[in-house]
Amino acid sequence: MQPETCDLAIVGCGLAGGLVALAMARHRPDLRVIAIERGEILGGDHVWSFFASDLPERGDALVAPAVAARWDGYEVHFPGRSRDLAAPYRSITSRKLDSAVRAALPAGCIISGVEATAVTPASVTLADGRTIAAGGVIDARGAHALPHMAGGWQKFMGQTLRLAAPHGLERPVVMDARVEQMDGYRFVYCLPFSPTEIFVEDTYYSDTPALDLPLLRRRIADYAARQGWQVESAAYEEAGVLPVIAAGDFAAFWRAGSGGAARAGTRAALVHPLTSYSLPDAVRFALHLTTLDNLSGSSLERASHAWAAQHWRDGRFYRMLTRMLFGAARPEARWRVLERFYGLPEPLIERFYAGRSTLADKLRVLAGKPPVPVSAAMASLIGRGRPLADLGAGLGGGAA
Ligand SMILES: Cc1cc2nc3c(=O)[nH]c(=O)nc-3n(C[C@H](O)[C@H](O)[C@H](O)COP(=O)(O)OP(=O)(O)OC[C@H]3O[C@@H](n4cnc5c(N)ncnc54)[C@H](O)[C@@H]3O)c2cc1C
Repeated sequence: MQPETCDLAIVGCGLAGGLVALAMARHRPDLRVIAIERGEILGGDHVWSFFASDLPERGDALVAPAVAARWDGYEVHFPGRSRDLAAPYRSITSRKLDSAVRAALPAGCIISGVEATAVTPASVTLADGRTIAAGGVIDARGAHALPHMAGGWQKFMGQTLRLAAPHGLERPVVMDARVEQMDGYRFVYCLPFSPTEIFVEDTYYSDTPALDLPLLRRRIADYAARQGWQVESAAYEEAGVLPVIAAGDFAAFWRAGSGGAARAGTRAALVHPLTSYSLPDAVRFALHLTTLDNLSGSSLERASHAWAAQHWRDGRFYRMLTRMLFGAARPEARWRVLERFYGLPEPLIERFYAGRSTLADKLRVLAGKPPVPVSAAMASLIGRGRPLADLGAGLGGGAA
């Protein structure tokens, strides 16, 4: 069988791979790009949310075809503070990403429902025996555990609830920490997709990856009942256990992966160390790739390594905050750190989520009376946290 050929092969068409495909189609239509995804639907079954202020120039236009919902601002609630914030909030769904990528790439350039079994800097072998010879390959197959890194976990389970009557929320509730604190910092996250449809996620910043899905379903039902919502059905469900990075050995992480091919997304550790979100970095990196003159396998690998290594260096402050959150605050007192954070000026909060904190922002975050004991904070800076390698044991009862 003759190999198929292309300028760029994207292996794994989830969030990062899908965005690279969209960016290339938009800004480098001269290139033949093939995207390979083992699932039938590009992006799987996900809701990815972000603040509009997270995105770089040209980012908004890039993601626009995949955006499923937009809101003008959001709310947070803590025991001692509630606040309305103005940053617009957006959600992308897998279905929208799938149709956007399919509309952007020419027919025959998307191979879905087939696993890639071998990936090199210039070729991809598929489980059905086909091979693809590419000028360059970008590995965006995702990452589950980070064995060379340490920290804690952000774990959650969410359901879209269909209600008998309107819930009355106009904007997302990004954190409602007025819930019983257990298993670390706990909050509920709500996205009002329509007047009678609301996505409710029970989230924990926890020391352990274990997730008891039946228990979390009950907690979501309890939360809905306390809001006075009468649930008719749960339409969609997702769960995640994401590494929250406190420290790590980036060089060892890079050496261990991908057989020399370039990498994107979580496979390149392009995540915000404290929130574990990757969408803003995936957009930035996808746009960066479109500016490269040389997309040959080895050059692309060097470019992705340089980008990811810089991102790792830029994440130092956020990793330090992770160490303080997990190491200094008693698990049930972690909410105080977030409550204080949400008292800071809104532009600082926006830059924080975008991973673009200035030096002045960093000093401001650390200034004032700390919500955790100073001695514990100092000790936490020396510690490294738990290894982020044992995710296999994380999801109990099957992840959506
Ligand atoms: C439930 C959940 C919700 C999240 N919500 C958000 C959010 O709201 N905002 C945010 O910024 N981040 C969110 N994250 C965190 C992170 O951004 C996501 O995990 C994101 O999907 C990571 O992007 P990625 O492209 O690296 O990996 P993925 O999106 O997982 O994409 C990897 C793709 O590679 C495919 N693949 C794997 N192996 C092969 C193979 N051998 N051959 C072919 N294809 C293969 C997979 O099927 C998958 O589609 C969430 C994570 C989870 C788990």
